Order: sequence, then structure tokens, then C-alpha cells
Amino acid sequence: MPDIASNIISLKKEIPSTVKLVAVSKTRSVDEILKAYNTGHKIFGENRVQELLSKKNHLPDDIEWHLVGHLQTNKVRYIVPFISMIESVDTFKLLKIINAEASKIGRTIACLLQFHIAKEETKYGFSMDEVTGMAESSEFRQLKAVRICGIMGMATFTSDNEQIRSEFRYLYQCYNTLKTRYLNNAESFREISMGMSGDYKIAIAEGSTIVRIGSIIFGERK
Ligand SMILES: *Cc1c(COP(=O)(O)O)cnc(C)c1O
Repeated sequence: MPDIASNIISLKKEIPSTVKLVAVSKTRSVDEILKAYNTGHKIFGENRVQELLSKKNHLPDDIEWHLVGHLQTNKVRYIVPFISMIESVDTFKLLKIINAEASKIGRTIACLLQFHIAKEETKYGFSMDEVTGMAESSEFRQLKAVRICGIMGMATFTSDNEQIRSEFRYLYQCYNTLKTRYLNNAESFREISMGMSGDYKIAIAEGSTIVRIGSIIFGERK
């Protein structure tokens, strides 16, 4: 049995204080999540809406939930009332629906734009061209109930560290270009969510501000 409390404590000691840790708790039980929470950790990530909703009710209200998995447009309304950040916005259509649902209830939702940087075809996400096209549109500028806080990406699942590093470097460049050329250096656009259990050290070296880590904290998923 992994010692969840000591795992998360030592991970937090190792990560620079400027980098936020999202404890990715998908597939983990309420009890396992509480073990991490009881160390004082507040930010957790889930990738499926149903699973998030069913666990959330049994957990403390001050948890900041991040959605890190593909979000279907018909599920947006279930998470908008409480979600702290949607890290996996992968289409303009989805962003507009988040905006519409958030305006209805008077919230502003922090969002990250998910980029497709990996070689695998199955991973969701925007290309840089799609994002710049979106950022230049007047429709985009009219969205008032979403706050675009930065970008997110997953590197290729590979043991080739240089491949991973170059993908993270590319993500960082996209972030910089967007911030300076397209978003007028918006103060709120400041996050680069990159790095998981296998590659967070490389991600931090390449400028990550948010790492999303599951296995190191909770043990391998079955
Ligand atoms: C599962 C998942 C993680 C965490 O993966 P680990 O390898 O267990 O750290 C991070 N990000 C996303 C988007 C995930 O789906």
C-alpha cells in the first residue's frame, strides 16, 4: 500500500513553490483522496465528469477541483457551478458553451487551452493555428464568463526524454507567442500546465507552472 500522505508531502518538498501541484485522483477512492487532503493539500484533478460528481459529494467543500480530461459539451452544466479550473478546453465550441453556462449562473470559469503536442493521434487538443485563429476572432473577445489562464499539454508517452523536452519547449513557445502577440500580455494568462508522474522534472525545467501528478502520490493505477 502506498503511503499517500508521505508521498505527497515529499513531492511538495521537491517541487519549487512557484509550481502548483494538481493531485490527479481519477480512479482513486474517497478515502485515498482524503489521505492526501489531510496533509493540507487542496487541489485535485479528475478526468471524468461522472466520477468527479460522485466523489465530490463525499469530500470537503474547500477542495479546488480541476477538470483535466476531455469534456463533452452536454456535461458542461454539471461542473460549472463548482469547478475551479477546466484545464482541457480543446475546441472553440466547448469554450463558448462553458461561457454560456457560466454566464447563466454568474460565474467566471478559469480555463486552460489544451494543445495537442504529442505524436499520438488519440490525444485531444488545439493546434497553434487553431488557437491563433480563435484568438483573432471577435467572438472570442466577447466571451466574458471564461478567463483564459494559460495552456495545457501532454507530451508523447515515450522513454525518449529529448522528445519530451522538445514538446514541452514547443508548448512554452506557444504560450509565449500567445501571451505577447495575441493576448496583449494579459496578466491572467500565466499558466503552463505540463508534466505528469513520468515527466514532471523535465516539464519544470522547461517552465511548467502546474504539474498534474497521480501515480507518484497514489501508486500505479490498475
Ligand atoms: C491521468 C492524468 C495525469 C496524471 O498521470 P500520472 O502519470 O498518474 O501522474 C495527468 N494529466 C492528465 C490529463 C491525466 O489524464
